Amino acid sequence: AKENGKSDCKLYSESWENSSFERLKLQHELYQAIQRNEFVLHYQPQYDLGGGGIVGVEALVRWNHPVRGLLSPGAFIPLAEESGMIVQIGDWVLMEACRQNKEWQDEGLPPMPVAVNLSIRQFMQHDLAARIAEVLQLTGLEPQYLDLEITESMTIDVGHVTRCLLAITELGVGISVDDFGTGYSSFHYLKNFPIDRLKIDRSFVRDIQQDPDDAEIVAAIIAMAHNLNIQVIAEGVETEEQMEFLRRHQCDEMQGYFRSPPVSHDRIERMLKAG
Ligand code: C2E
Ligand code: CA
Ligand code: CA
Ligand code: CA
Repeated sequence: AKENGKSDCKLYSESWENSSFERLKLQHELYQAIQRNEFVLHYQPQYDLGGGGIVGVEALVRWNHPVRGLLSPGAFIPLAEESGMIVQIGDWVLMEACRQNKEWQDEGLPPMPVAVNLSIRQFMQHDLAARIAEVLQLTGLEPQYLDLEITESMTIDVGHVTRCLLAITELGVGISVDDFGTGYSSFHYLKNFPIDRLKIDRSFVRDIQQDPDDAEIVAAIIAMAHNLNIQVIAEGVETEEQMEFLRRHQCDEMQGYFRSPPVSHDRIERMLKAG
């Protein structure tokens, strides 16, 4: 037991989160990445469970690191959140996703919303709704083609977040609750915020086949959301059986490796052109 404890401790102290040198280095590189514009967006298609076609895309940020190559958000978003740099990165993501979506429309691709993930830090700025209005104006994207994904951890200042969400809704932009079911305040969220859509977290979808409780929970979330006039998308769909279950229970849309992982903008463009 003692040896176990020791090795745990070693692992712990060697992770970047706990090495102040690695951390400072990464923080500096992240700062430079913003100046040098090293971020790229990948897009994961969202499919209609009725018709089966692509009805939206989610923009997911990657960092094209000069030495380490393409990094996924898990490698830098936590530090970006902590250091506050997520505000600038998130602003770039918002602008780029809207610009790209408008460009696709101008090229004659079927118009559909792009979903952008928002950090609580972005909400804490005073003028988020004004900034979103400005980005829509600058890019020429119509508001119904932007969808914002928020997580339940955002209920820190409920009053502020509510006012902010109402202002965003008034612009005509859609609001989705991401990772639904994982927070402790899911229902509070539905009751108090103007929500258009919820995304069932992939931890529930994963065990639909094995765990009857998870199957019940997913079915209940879908039914309840529909009664509240809220659309439902399931994320992390990896198998045909999961997809069939969701379709049987009238889930509206799905996203997941079974149909497609997140892909580069070239690749999604080809997918959208193919229809
Ligand atoms: P998320 O918003 O829940 O995004 C879905 C994540 O699940 C993506 O990971 C995606 O690649 C992954 N995924 C999609 N389908 C499947 C599947 O079938 N199975 C499994 N196991 N995973 C699947 P990714 O791209 O690594 O992003 C991770 C998280 O980073 C996102 O989770 C989101 O919370 C955050 N993130 C990404 N881009 C942004 C951004 O622009 N701003 C902010 N604030 N956060 C972002
Ligand atoms: Ca998301
Ligand atoms: Ca999610
Ligand atoms: Ca997540």
